[in-house]
Amino acid sequence: MRERVPLVYFHGVEPGSYVAAYPVFVVGDAPAALTFMLQVDDASAALAMDIGRGRVAEDEAAARRAYVTRSVRQRLHQVAFRERVLRAYQERCTLCSLRHQELLDAAHIIPDSDPEGEPVVSNGVALCKLHHAAFDLLFFAIRPDYVIEVRPSILAGHDGPMLIVGLQQIHHRRILLPRRPIDRPDPLRLERRYEEFLRAS
Ligand SMILES: [Zn+2]
Repeated sequence: MRERVPLVYFHGVEPGSYVAAYPVFVVGDAPAALTFMLQVDDASAALAMDIGRGRVAEDEAAARRAYVTRSVRQRLHQVAFRERVLRAYQERCTLCSLRHQELLDAAHIIPDSDPEGEPVVSNGVALCKLHHAAFDLLFFAIRPDYVIEVRPSILAGHDGPMLIVGLQQIHHRRILLPRRPIDRPDPLRLERRYEEFLRAS
């Protein structure tokens, strides 16, 4: 902390899996609580600081680090949420079983902008890009008994094979569930989302 040595912080996502944030500086120490405080900085700005511009530069750095730390923390939480959800669903879409990582997302059941939208696995489902967008737009809902219900207007549509296979044929199918019961979608959150779906249908 005294020598302002830049460090690398490894944020644990799962046992044996980390996301790195750098450069990180120790900015506070609380020996009684056996903790210390870290802040992340912008790499190029931190390097420029080394030239040393005195007090003004220190104040500027504090504000910048607070901002960078906030956004890095948010990103770490998002990355961790995605990793945990995809792992729980064995890296496949819970609706169509698509396994291409690049086309998979961790979708929130209750959005993260909502106070109940915590980044926990039971508030997520692994979905491919198509099913994620359709889920967010309430084209379908997952009922608390894990059965999919598609909106009547979508079921009545006619266009191409993607609509038939991707959206119409998933109606009344049961989703693929994570092995561990603790990772399964929370029925109360699904219920809330399902009610919203019924109002929109
Ligand atoms: Zn899918």
